[in-house]
Amino acid sequence: GTVLVGGGTGFVGKHLTKTLTSKYYGVKVVSRMPGPKNISWQELNTNGLPEGTVAVVNLAGQNVMDFKQRWSAGFKQNVYNSRINTTASLAKAIANAKHKPRAFVSMSGVGGYKPDKDKEYDECCTVEQFDFFSKLVLEWEKAAAIDGPARNECRITTIRSGVVLGRDGGMIKQLYMPFFLGLGGPVGNGTQYLPWIHIKDLVDLIIFSIENSKVDGVLNAVAPQVCTNKEFSDAFAKALNRPAFIPVPSFVFNMMLGAERAKMITEGQKVIPKRTQELGFKFSFPTVLSACQDIVKNS
Ligand code: NDP
Repeated sequence: GTVLVGGGTGFVGKHLTKTLTSKYYGVKVVSRMPGPKNISWQELNTNGLPEGTVAVVNLAGQNVMDFKQRWSAGFKQNVYNSRINTTASLAKAIANAKHKPRAFVSMSGVGGYKPDKDKEYDECCTVEQFDFFSKLVLEWEKAAAIDGPARNECRITTIRSGVVLGRDGGMIKQLYMPFFLGLGGPVGNGTQYLPWIHIKDLVDLIIFSIENSKVDGVLNAVAPQVCTNKEFSDAFAKALNRPAFIPVPSFVFNMMLGAERAKMITEGQKVIPKRTQELGFKFSFPTVLSACQDIVKNS
């Protein structure tokens, strides 16, 4: 069958489509760009799901950590619309489909959990609105809901992902050079949590959610080893055989990214993959050192 992937051209999407293809799935991508495997959002809205769609995944979203983009009202609106409208379009297409897909896997983030030194968040913790990102998460997850009888025919999984670690995208792509040059270090005092997951584990968890009929509802996509920003910096530097003693003060990120956005790095929440593990998912990279070593080895 075919898996339809919104935003399948991105960092996570490229890895996901490669693994799906190796498992003999057909892949179609919903993209703003034309391409041999692509359909446009307009086509999706007009024609609905392509025939033979067995699962739908949404990974679309304007990159929040694009340092070239100022954190302006307009950019924030793009960040918001690119997630909520795409998710809602896919949910609507599923609701209207004659043959329902088995599963809808919708991406979300850990930004709905309020950073707290002591509080540990599993999937049962509800998301409350306390800032821009928590509002985004709330609306994003709400947009994935499928109304009416279609709801019972298609499992919906919400993946609350931590920072995705991989060589060719996300945070590591930004940090590789400074760390490689031995100029890396923690952010601020480094005691803030950094919820993270290796790209392979995230891709495997998405496919696990597609294939496993028991999986439904919220899953935290974070590795079982909770780590702080400093522990991540130390592990990444160790994997690269470099020192990591140059801390970057939080105000630098506040200035560069805008304080509201910089919170993603200067603060962090303690998140555990409780349901994810209870449902039987096995992580290939449970520790941050093993994840960093793999990323350095394969780059
Ligand atoms: P990318 O930044 O690589 O972007 C994914 C895709 O989104 C792009 O390839 C693009 O597809 C599409 N897109 C970008 N801007 C817009 C827009 N304005 N309107 C519509 N589509 C747009 O994301 P990742 O692969 O890193 O992440 C995938 C999802 O997971 C995102 O929603 C992200 O928020 C979420 N996530 C990511 C984390 C990470 O660390 N990477 C952590 C937690 C959550 P095209 O150009 O083909 O239209």
